[in-house]
Amino acid sequence: MNTFKDLGLNEDLLHAITDLGFETPSDVQAKAIPILLEKDTDLVALAQTGTGKTAAFGFPMLQKINIDSRTTQGLILSPTRELCLQITNEMKLYGKYCKGLNVVAIYGGSSISDQAREVKRGAQIIVATPGRMKDMISRNMVDISKIEYSVLDEADEMLNMGFKEDITDILSHTPEDKNTWLFSATMPKEVSNIAKRFMKSPMEITVGNKNESTNQVSHEYYLVNSRDRYDALKRLADANPDIFSVIFCRTKRDTQKVAEQLIEDGYSAGALHGDLSQNQRDLVMNSFRKNQIQMLVATDVAARGIDVDDITHVINYQLPDEPETYTHRSGRTGRAGKTGISMVIVSKSEVRKIKSIERIINQKFELKQIPDGMAICETQLMSLANKIHNTEVNHEIDKYLTSINELFEDTSKDELIKKFFSVEFTRFYNYYQRSKNLNVTDSRSSDRDSDRDSGRDYGSNDNSTRYFINVGKKDGFDWMKLKDFLKEILELGRDDVFKVDVKESFSFFNAEKELQEKILAFFTDFKHEGRFVNVEISEDKGRGTSRNKRRSGGGDRSRGERRSGGDFKPRGERRTGGSDRRSSGESRSRRSSDSNASGPNRRDRRANSDSKPTESSFSRPRRSRRRD
Ligand code: AMP
Repeated sequence: MNTFKDLGLNEDLLHAITDLGFETPSDVQAKAIPILLEKDTDLVALAQTGTGKTAAFGFPMLQKINIDSRTTQGLILSPTRELCLQITNEMKLYGKYCKGLNVVAIYGGSSISDQAREVKRGAQIIVATPGRMKDMISRNMVDISKIEYSVLDEADEMLNMGFKEDITDILSHTPEDKNTWLFSATMPKEVSNIAKRFMKSPMEITVGNKNESTNQVSHEYYLVNSRDRYDALKRLADANPDIFSVIFCRTKRDTQKVAEQLIEDGYSAGALHGDLSQNQRDLVMNSFRKNQIQMLVATDVAARGIDVDDITHVINYQLPDEPETYTHRSGRTGRAGKTGISMVIVSKSEVRKIKSIERIINQKFELKQIPDGMAICETQLMSLANKIHNTEVNHEIDKYLTSINELFEDTSKDELIKKFFSVEFTRFYNYYQRSKNLNVTDSRSSDRDSDRDSGRDYGSNDNSTRYFINVGKKDGFDWMKLKDFLKEILELGRDDVFKVDVKESFSFFNAEKELQEKILAFFTDFKHEGRFVNVEISEDKGRGTSRNKRRSGGGDRSRGERRSGGDFKPRGERRTGGSDRRSSGESRSRRSSDSNASGPNRRDRRANSDSKPTESSFSRPRRSRRRD
């Protein structure tokens, strides 16, 4: 079966497919469409975004529903607003010749009554995010009691995002005998459970291997010291002048901070995370889609549903907490038949996480070196030379040629070329000439296999700090509770706190050195259940059995005692004080390791600065805030 016609699609749909320029069905379409057209069956399809899965369920749904009826017959649930809108849009395109078709998107952050009005007009298909859908059901604004087809799209993402209850509730309002088609990139236990619970003998199709990420993507990791993470990121960007990338951070705060630093350092970057308003997120996404932003720094949740096909690189600035999440990250590149690169910046203590990801994606990572400064200068120079070589002459320049020629009367062609390129080259050269080697030798690579599962082992490296904390068993903690407590309040990942040793009235724990500033700053005035909790660096680097600690301030900070200074504020109020001071300090220190403060100052890379694409280094006007 090589054509859409062979799959059994009707004329209206084939007509739309011709308009869309789709020539051959993708793998998931070739597998799913004939099954869904011919059989009234439930289906589990394992497929990544970018494989054409929307059409794989969209075409059969459009062909099977009765367009002459205004009853809602199809329900598509998707994890995010962006994806919901994207699916709605695709469905409208696929069904453009299906006369009378009404596909309605319902999602949060937009007027619920407008959406209810649209549904009332008669929507044969509703595409919805679970939260808003549940809300509308409870207000009797939608009727899904007669639907015949339901799709759970990106089921793993919906469950990751905590929509299990909502989905269960929504499906309880649908008829028993409907067909459910579940699409998911990965198949964790939670997804199988949903399939078991809500589906009747589903057929299963897989595109690529289960839990495998797309082969269009190559996976690389770069081993650096934690303190050099940001400089490594800049080098990777500089070594890829045409980069168009999504950079993943673990928390909203880190996302914002990295984006701000990049912008300050002259890169074209933007932040995308849940603390931004919908309007701000839309603006950033629009700029990204129009290639006005080269580096979109995002959290996992916010990046879901990014429907941009030509992303060249995904950069894991920090690895995700759950190795499965990596599949979603790397799936943002290598879409629509293109190739892509997924890069991971790791410190030594994280190398073992690479191994577990390799097992999930069923692909090997290649250890690569962060390029040295001179290699970057060369890349930039040659990229510019190529751009100039390929540039079409703008003859508007002709009228100024006489004056320009006069100016360069005594300059030879050779010298002119040198001068011309020096404008850009010198900026990079000055920045990188004394830059240090950021690579760390992977002494652990040989034992990557042996230590991969020993979560607590990785605390024994020199890269961690041991802390004393003045809570213990008396306060109801055991090691697991304390670890969870620390992870939650500090917004840390699963493996960030280790070697937790709980004593009667105090405890010890380890965390990576790079978190030291964050942890100490956080506990300067942290109150838990009405009393101040103190954390200090312990001098006991070993088992942590004694309370032999270095105090960072004066006085005995035992249970319940206030720290000196007396300027304690509740946590919420601290943000503008402690945390802001900390972050500016941190950005200063982070930027210090390459040879000058800010970066090679790419004057053309300003986020949201103007509406021109960032094609050539010469294409943007010089901005005033340069530092070179
Ligand atoms: P999806 O996986 O549904 O998000 O689709 C990814 C992109 O591929 C979308 O922009 C679709 O319009 C496009 N697409 C879907 N099917 C095909 C096809 N058979 N040929 C070419 N492009 C397609």
